[in-house]
This record gives sequence, structure tokens and C-alpha cells, in this order.
Amino acid sequence: MLSTLKFILFTAISLVMIFTAVYLTVLNTYKPAVKTYINGEFIGYFSDEQQFDEVYNDLVAEKQNIDENVKVYLESEPTFEQSYIRDSLLEEQNVYTNLRAEIKTEYTIYELVVDGEQQMTFTAEDQAENYINQLKSEVSDINATIEVEKVSELEDVTSTERADDILAGIVDRNKPVDLPEEEPQTTTNTTQYTASVYNGAVAPVADGTKVWPTVYNRINCDYLGYYGHNGVDIGGASGTPIYAYMGGTVTFSGWDTTGYGNCVKISHGNGIVTIYAHCSALYVSAGQQVSAGQTIAGIGMTGWATGNHLHFEVRVNGVPVNPWIYLNQI
Ligand SMILES: [Zn+2]
Repeated sequence: MLSTLKFILFTAISLVMIFTAVYLTVLNTYKPAVKTYINGEFIGYFSDEQQFDEVYNDLVAEKQNIDENVKVYLESEPTFEQSYIRDSLLEEQNVYTNLRAEIKTEYTIYELVVDGEQQMTFTAEDQAENYINQLKSEVSDINATIEVEKVSELEDVTSTERADDILAGIVDRNKPVDLPEEEPQTTTNTTQYTASVYNGAVAPVADGTKVWPTVYNRINCDYLGYYGHNGVDIGGASGTPIYAYMGGTVTFSGWDTTGYGNCVKISHGNGIVTIYAHCSALYVSAGQQVSAGQTIAGIGMTGWATGNHLHFEVRVNGVPVNPWIYLNQI
């Protein structure tokens, strides 16, 4: 009887001791935590919701270091599940990486657009305004606007140094050429137009009367103003007459599929051909003889053009040459 009682007592004490040991072990190794999801995506464990907020705020600050005006947000609120985890798991997991992947950003950028082409990108509105004001003060009739856009990543933001370069380039391209002219000129060698690019190419001299090809003289984009730009772009209103540079034979008048749009080509002999591109109207046809100063087309923006202008190009034996060699003969 006594031994049975002893046995029960002994067993009971042993069980209590085992449970206590297990309980203490579990308590030391496992900690309460919140299992966190965003958009159904498992992010990791946080000791509590406050710790989640701390990590999130760290990441917001990380983005704001790049641009203080960035909008940082999560597509949906996080959900938390109460849980117990091994103590060391809090250290082992990488909640920063997981949460960073779920964070959305929205940057506001200000693009300076000149004649339909994006030239500079800023994150600060006053910077964009500063450059557009500078540009407008240097070139009075330029078509420049600021476009506001929202993007999720910042790319190709223009540095001040680069913006200064671009600005100088645009101002340079839009410099008025020396002689404003109302009527086509029919005398030779009276005016020297500014040749901003001259590659020294030797080309045959075109004999005969030469005429500036329209009434405008603002150079929007010069010869080799960008790689592959083999002509001189003279800005002007749509429909303004385009004049034959010199007398010759029209070899082409129609639609060009390589980007010139409506286009006239005139052969002047000695292998010299002048090309008039992006026309709004064509007034001559292939095979026709034209004289210097004759209206052959109207200024337009057909083909690859962002604004109304005459693309004037000269080819000698099929090879584009610096048009100023010929324009300077006027
Ligand atoms: Zn051009």
C-alpha cells in the first residue's frame, strides 16, 4: 500500500518537473511575434506592429534621401497574425529586403520640352522654371513648355552641368542668321550667311544665280546638329513658299518614305542636287525645268518632323555635303 502511494507521488513529482522544464525551455526559445503580410505576400516576422512601423519609416527615409518630395506608399495595408517564433528567427530573416520590394514610389518630374522634344528632366519645379525662363529670355519666339509627369522610378534626371550645356546648345541653334529677307534674292555674293559648321569638303561650285530657299532665316537645327542630320533646318510657318536654290531640273517631287515626307529634289548639273524636305505642298513635278527663286513647294512638317520647317540639303554625286558651302554662295 505504502509503496504504491510512494510510486504515485514520485511519478506525479517527476511529471510536474518535466513539464516545468519543457515550459521553461519553450518560453526561453520562442517569442511572441506578428507574422506580417502585404497584398497576400509574406514579409516576415516583427516583434510587434511598432517594430514594423520603424522598419517602414526607415525605408521611407531611404527613398526621401533620393528625392524629398517622393510619395511612398503600400498598395494595401499590412495584416498581422499573432504567432510564436524561434528567438533567432527575428535576426535571421531579411524584412528590409522583403518590405522594400512591396514599397511603391511616385516621383513628380518636370520636363522641359522644346519644339516637341524633351530636353531636360528635373525633380524640382523651380529648377525647370529657371531653365525655361533663361531659354525664353535668350530666344524670344521659342516653343518651350514644362510638362509634369508622375513616374515610379527616377531616371535620367538632368544635372545642372548638363542642363547648362543643353541650354547653350538650344540657344546656339536658334540664333538668328544675319540677314532677314522678305523677297528672294536674285543677286549673287552679296551676303554671307553664318556657316556654323564647315567641314572643308571640296565641292563643285554651282554656276548661276543662287537664292536663299525661303523668306525665313532662323536655323532650327544646323548641319550635323545631331548625328546623321545632313541638312540645315530653316524654321518657318506652314505653307510659306520654298524657292529653288538655283535653276535646274526637278528629279523628284513626291512622298519620300525615308522620313523626308513631301520632298523636292532639283539637279543643278555638276552632280549637285538640292533637296527640300517636309513640305506641306508640292508645286513642281519631276522632269520640270525650274529657275532660281521659283516657288517649288510650301514649308510643312510632313515625314519625320516635329515642327514646320524647311530641311534644306545638298548632295554632290549622291553624297550629302555641308549646305553652307552653297548657302554661302548666295
Ligand atoms: Zn532637318
